[in-house]
Parts: sequence; structure tokens; C-alpha cells
Amino acid sequence: MKKILFVLSVIAAFIMFGVTPSKNNITPYTLTEAQPISEIAAGPKILVLNYHQIKDTPSYLSVHVDDFDAQMNYLVENGYIAITPDALLSALEGELELPPKPVLITFDDGYIDNYENAFPILQKYGLRATIFVIAAFVGKEGYMDWEHLIEMEENGITMQSHTLNHIALEELPDDGLRVELLNSKLMLEEKLGHSVDFVAYPTGTYNLHIAAIAKEVGYRGAFTIKYGNVDLGSNFFALERVPIFRTPTTMKDFYERISYRQSFEEFGWIKK
Ligand SMILES: [Zn+2]
Repeated sequence: MKKILFVLSVIAAFIMFGVTPSKNNITPYTLTEAQPISEIAAGPKILVLNYHQIKDTPSYLSVHVDDFDAQMNYLVENGYIAITPDALLSALEGELELPPKPVLITFDDGYIDNYENAFPILQKYGLRATIFVIAAFVGKEGYMDWEHLIEMEENGITMQSHTLNHIALEELPDDGLRVELLNSKLMLEEKLGHSVDFVAYPTGTYNLHIAAIAKEVGYRGAFTIKYGNVDLGSNFFALERVPIFRTPTTMKDFYERISYRQSFEEFGWIKK
């Protein structure tokens, strides 16, 4: 029964998201070819949450501060262990065994409220997180500056790339793609002093060509807003996430989204 459900959900994802990049020759990872569905189903299911803003002023991208606190409390109370993107990749490569309920908590864009509102809550619960920063926006009004980023990194929050200027990548020629992907990586590496191995595609849009360039400039993996868990069938350059935004009643929606209980056709995120 589980297998049937899995196959149905895969088919549903194909229908919803059109071309699936899951099986192609971009990733070096050995499990992509003829990976039996039973092995994928038996492998780890990694929940990757995608937040943007944590603040009480409602917006398309925001989650209320109290709701975010309740969501982090839920994760801790229910035995989730927060991991890094490195650990996620190592698990997919078969080099690391993850805890039973892994969660990768991610934020996109690098808004100042991540520092002011989310960071204290993450620290309160001892949770790691990853922020995909728009490199050229660091220090601009409404965004965190380098000191914020460095302080957070010293406390378990990892910075990765959300490109240089947050331009929809599908609109760019190859040289523009390389600038957006590579220069952001180099800038973050220089300012933060560690390698930047992951990128989240701005607006979540990507295609196989963009993924190939992301790999070419040195990333090891890339995150989308394709709704789902990461598992052994995931492509390293099209990693799934569960969006926690566009929701007025976030605790209820949070639970439903991480449980895959409800369809979100209105957002184009899932169809069961
Ligand atoms: Zn973004």
C-alpha cells in the first residue's frame, strides 16, 4: 500500500510540476540510475522547511513570530533533529546515517527579521538553520548585514547562496547565469570564510541548464520550492522543500504541510 501511495504521489508530482529533473545525468550521484522505488521508499525522508520572513506584519512571505515559535517547539517536542545541508548531501551519498526525524530549516533572501525574530527562537530551542542570502543585498535596508550573518554563523546558522541579485534565472543568458551563481558564491566565501556549496534558486525557478551551470561553477547542491521531502530519488540540483509561507493560519497549515495532509492546488504545490 505504501508503495502504491508513493508511486501515486510521484505521478501526481510529475503532473503538477511538469518536467521532473529527478532522473538525468547532471548529478554524479550513483543512486539516480535505475534506483528501485522500494529502495527510495525505504531510504531517508528529509523534511526541508522553507521560510522567508518571520514577523507580525502580515505579508505574502511572512510567518507570525508566535507561530514560528510554536512550529519550532513542535519540531523539538516531536523529536526532529535539525541538520545542515552538508549532512543532507552526505546522507544522500550514503556516507552518513541521519537521525530518524531529520529537518533542514531554511530561510530565503536574508531579511533583517531573520536576525531579529527567528534567530532568538532558533537559539532558544537549540536548532540549526540555513539562510540562503542574496549576496548583493547584504546590508541593504530590510536585509541583514555582514555582522548579523557572522554572529548567526557563530551560533549554528549556516549561510549559503541565493544568487547575487535575485534575478529569475530563466531570463538570463549563460554569462549572466554564471555571474549570479558564481559571484554570489565567491562574495559569501570571502566575507564569511567558508566554502559555500549550496544555492537556492530565486523564485524557485530552474531548469536542467541552470542546474548544470550551478554545478559547473562549483555548487554541490541546489534547492527549489518544489513541494516534497528530499529522498534517495531527489536530484542534488533540484532538492525539494516544504514552503511555510502564503498562509494566514500558520500553525494549522504548518502541520498539514509537513504531514502532506492537504492539497494546495491554489498554490500549485501539490495534487493528491
Ligand atoms: Zn528569494
